[in-house]
This record gives sequence, structure tokens and C-alpha cells, in this order.
Amino acid sequence: MMTLSQLVLASHNAGKLKELQALLGDAVQVRSVGEFSDVEPEETGLSFVENAILKARHAARVSGLPALADDSGLAVDALGGAPGIYSARYAGGGGDAANNAKLLEALRDVPDAGRGARFVCALALVRHAEDPLPILCEGLWHGRILHAPRGAQGFGYDPLFWVPETDCSSAELAPPEKNRLSHRARAMAQLRQRLGLA
Ligand code: IMP
Repeated sequence: MMTLSQLVLASHNAGKLKELQALLGDAVQVRSVGEFSDVEPEETGLSFVENAILKARHAARVSGLPALADDSGLAVDALGGAPGIYSARYAGGGGDAANNAKLLEALRDVPDAGRGARFVCALALVRHAEDPLPILCEGLWHGRILHAPRGAQGFGYDPLFWVPETDCSSAELAPPEKNRLSHRARAMAQLRQRLGLA
């Protein structure tokens, strides 16, 4: 089992850092890769896991510390898993509203039965930049793509993602509830177990 006293998160997002620190507890000090470098690696992988690994290796390289990275996105059945690893830039950089509009257009003639989708989160933890055996965790959240946006919470594709177990969109869930059910929560729960923290 891996014991850690410090860990670098391969993200410049202060919210993610806080969430991870809370999850891992006081025994592990979580630092941001931004303390060490402003350069972000190109996400050239063809899968969530490959992109998480390359981000984690980069963070370990610039910091000299163990590093954790996540990569996430939305995979829609009727679109062969698209937008997938390209979720953040699906509409070419127009942001969440443009991405959601493009997704609705792509599914315009698809009935409910074909609108199955899942959010995916891959986590990779490396002990050092060349670690040959990264810890890999994956979380999936199954749902369906709505015909129009609903709800104002969350971000990204949340207004279009119908969650069967709560009978609402993920943008209608209060943040603590989303953080209990989401793909990210599931992957993080696995990580806690793998680190002997659960
Ligand atoms: P990131 O790489 O984890 O920042 O996320 C990649 C993209 O996937 C985001 O820009 C969103 O478009 C989408 N995404 C990932 N997780 C979620 C989520 O929980 N809700 C909505 N969209 C998400």
C-alpha cells in the first residue's frame, strides 16, 4: 500500500484541490501543480486513462513529488461514445452553452431509448514521473440525455444529464448530493480504498 505525506494535484483548479484535501484528510498535504509550473501538458491520449496518466507524470516531473490527475467527460451511446475525451472542446472552444447546443443538435432525431450516456472519470496516481505501475481508478455515472436543459447547478453537461436514481437532471441536484453520486465521487471512493483511507 502506498503511504503519502505530500501529493501534487495536476490541476490549477482551487475547488478540486479543496475537495481532494477534504477527501484525503490531514495526513496527506495536497499541493497544486501550479506551485511548480504554469505549463500544461498537451492531452494527446486517446482515452481518459491515458490523459490522466500523462497529466500525473507531468505534475510529478515538475514537482518531484507523487502526483494525482483526473480526466473526465461525457460518453453518449448513440454517438459512439462522443464527445468523450473531447467533452470540454466539443463545440470547438465555445464553452458549456455551445457544447450543450451541439449535443442537442447531434441527438435531435434520437428517441429516449437511444439517449443513454455516462459521465466518466479516470484518476491516475504516480509515485514519480516514470512510475511503471500507476494507481488507476475509474468512476462511471449512468444516465440519459434530455431533449432540453433543466436546472442551474453544476457545470458542463449537467443541465442535459438525466439521473434515473434521483429523477432529475444533474444540474437540479444540490452540490452535496451530486458529489455523493457522481463519476468523480465514485472514482475518488475507489482511490480512498486503494490508499487504505476508506
Ligand atoms: P475536466 O477535464 O474534468 O475538467 O472535464 C472535462 C469536461 O467534461 C468538462 O469541461 C465538462 O464539459 C465535462 N464534464 C466532466 N465532468 C462533468 C460533470 O460532473 N458535469 C458536467 N460536465 C462534466
